[in-house]
Amino acid sequence: MTPSAGNRSVARVIQSVRTLEGAGFLVNRPLPTPQLMEFDPFLLLDEMGPVELAPGEAKGAPDHPHRGFETVTYMLDGRMEHRDSQGNAGQLGSGDVQWMTAGAGVIHSEMPEPDFAQRGGRMHGFQLWVNLPRIDKMMRPRYQEIPAAKIPRATSADGKIQVRVIAGEALGAKAVIDTRTPISLLHYTVAQGGIVAQHMPGDHNVFAYVFDGSGEFGPAAIAAHERQMVVFENDGDQIRFAAADGRNPLQLLLISGLPLRQPVARYGPFVMNTKEEIATAVSDYQSGRFGKIAPAR
Ligand code: FE
Repeated sequence: MTPSAGNRSVARVIQSVRTLEGAGFLVNRPLPTPQLMEFDPFLLLDEMGPVELAPGEAKGAPDHPHRGFETVTYMLDGRMEHRDSQGNAGQLGSGDVQWMTAGAGVIHSEMPEPDFAQRGGRMHGFQLWVNLPRIDKMMRPRYQEIPAAKIPRATSADGKIQVRVIAGEALGAKAVIDTRTPISLLHYTVAQGGIVAQHMPGDHNVFAYVFDGSGEFGPAAIAAHERQMVVFENDGDQIRFAAADGRNPLQLLLISGLPLRQPVARYGPFVMNTKEEIATAVSDYQSGRFGKIAPAR
């Protein structure tokens, strides 16, 4: 049999783990897990919720530092509020994206927006950590905050596939977010009968994280369902998948990046290339060189 040209096969399917983050909110974490500690250039993916929160129950991540990588927050439900040592503050609601390049260092807080926390409701979102190349690890911190209305969307001709293009390109739509290294971050929604064929450069590492329904992936139609990460081989330049649930549409994040192939020294919220750079990050943080968050007015 001749497989369709360039159709990447599935290397493995990884079950996410449930854990608590920040001040104690539940996340499903496909990366890192004992099966896969990093997936160059990606360091972490957390799915926050989905969870129905009672009034007053919402928790966040109070003041904490980051250095040497980027945090990407994508909200589906609920409302978060952030504030940082660069003087930035803002809110993220349904469909909004914050792409924060921590670079040399920020201290920030990521908390439920007070009205949302008081009312309660559904909380669902993602945070992806993207490693920075050595040359950018100490860059000046940068924010890109894109409201849902400005995230490009596209629909297939048969109407069965919808995509929100947070980074990269899909179905003719091109992202508005600028990334330091080549990255794709695509939110696909696929109805029964829809078949996605997404171009991905052959040198990118690619994975999908399924968060609703189930699907079949690659030339062997490997099955994966919600809370699972599908890791692709680097044996082609196309990713193919289809919905397989019969009822619910398949929803997933399709994520790709050009690997950095540089040493990773990781300690909590600091990700550098060497142990010495980690020690410097810790002492810079402890001596107040990351600045501090201005009090709310
Ligand atoms: Fe953070």
